[in-house]
Amino acid sequence: MTGLNRLGLVEARDLLRRRAISAVELARACLAAMERGRALNAFITETPERALAMAEAADARLARGEGGLLEGLPIAVKDLFCTAGVRTTAGSRMLANFVPPYESTVTAKLWAEGAVLLGKTNLDEFAMGSSNTTSAFGPVVNPWTPPDVPQPLVPGGSSGGSAAAVAAGLCPAATGTDTGGSIRQPASFCGIVGIKPTYGRCSRWGIVAFASSLDQAGAFARSVADAALLLRAMAGFDPKDGTSADLPVPDWSATRAGQVRGLRIGIPKEYRLDGMPAEIEALWARGAEWLRAQGAEIVEVSLPHTRYALPTYYIVAPAEASSNLARYDGMRYGLRVPGRDLVDTYKKTRAEGFGAEVRRRILIGTYVLSAGYYDAYYLKAQKVRRRIVEDFEAAFAHCDALLTPTAPSAAFRIGEKSDDPVAMYLNDVFTVTVNLAGLPGISVPAGLSTEGLPLGLQVIGRPWDEATLFEIGLALEEAAGFVARPAGAVEV
Ligand code: GLN
Repeated sequence: MTGLNRLGLVEARDLLRRRAISAVELARACLAAMERGRALNAFITETPERALAMAEAADARLARGEGGLLEGLPIAVKDLFCTAGVRTTAGSRMLANFVPPYESTVTAKLWAEGAVLLGKTNLDEFAMGSSNTTSAFGPVVNPWTPPDVPQPLVPGGSSGGSAAAVAAGLCPAATGTDTGGSIRQPASFCGIVGIKPTYGRCSRWGIVAFASSLDQAGAFARSVADAALLLRAMAGFDPKDGTSADLPVPDWSATRAGQVRGLRIGIPKEYRLDGMPAEIEALWARGAEWLRAQGAEIVEVSLPHTRYALPTYYIVAPAEASSNLARYDGMRYGLRVPGRDLVDTYKKTRAEGFGAEVRRRILIGTYVLSAGYYDAYYLKAQKVRRRIVEDFEAAFAHCDALLTPTAPSAAFRIGEKSDDPVAMYLNDVFTVTVNLAGLPGISVPAGLSTEGLPLGLQVIGRPWDEATLFEIGLALEEAAGFVARPAGAVEV
């Protein structure tokens, strides 16, 4: 059968259960697509032997009529999740040869449900970035790049490898992590679905830490239903993560379209930015119209502290990063560059192991936490963060979910914003608020820009209410009828 690499998770699951296809065939199709799609640089490590062994074991279970939620389904994993025996780099020279002896909780859950590991996807170094250009393993190319352009487009970041791989058809779905937008923004740039659940829904145990109070794992797929299925397998309480929530995981994959009637959808007026491209405004208005036409009520709401969100994020995230990244000292694991003495070894190791963006974050983070500046920056940012949380609480008194654009633009060219960190940070203007408040957010492809590039709409929900996001996501998906395929889609 051809085109197996284009199957979605739900479709493939049903074919596997009927034994119309085998897990080995499916894995082989994806591995072949990965080989053909290597120019995208979406994977740092491919794991073909492991994939085929896992697929064979899945076929044996399926033949016995057994199997988990994802039995035999091939998945790519962002190279920030520790995978036992498989190199885990975090996109950094620091961990270029790090092979974890343990498995992250999220990936362990996937394998327990029968999923098949295809490989580890490229990302911005330590997940710091919005363009996947800070990776020590080179930039990822967005498969939507038109043919024959001198400079390819970015896939977004930091989970750019996962998003590009799913969009190009190298795999049906992938994991990501989202600290300030790293699932939703690349999903928008690559024309696929990306969900970041509520903080605490997925365990952070075994995920290389960036900013612990913001980091959250989530799912990429080409449809809302597929994203719901993958997230269900990833989520759940973990005693090893003190911030993981002891709550049951609903069966989101049972969500059906057509359930938005009577929902109140808030449009945050502060998200109407000066200088926002007209096509983004138009897309947003169209999205609201689609939901209204399906019976939802559209209300305007206010999130007055929105303009402080980026400055707050860029204090809190680097502060936590500077603390989390202190462990990379060349002593226990990772890179070691020997120096004259202990301190010189620390210095050389960290200078060679970390790239420019990571160093920038460590410097900013150390500065805002230092004795003389802690009150003025870090403590202040914590207070503003609380105000941002309260803004959302007030808004959710008037509506069930919020609708916003996912990003202020479509994908840009590799290198375009790399020498202007502030322009790069602006990518996250609509997404960081959600992480600061710990809320769930989903991005759904909703249309094309005038240049033919995908644009996403974001739905933000109340804590633990991913179910409503999937309902609204399905409604948007149905109305948008987004069927365009990227120029770089791989056929096998
Ligand atoms: N782009 C944001 C940053 O650079 C968010 C990254 C993320 O979500 N991991 O910090």
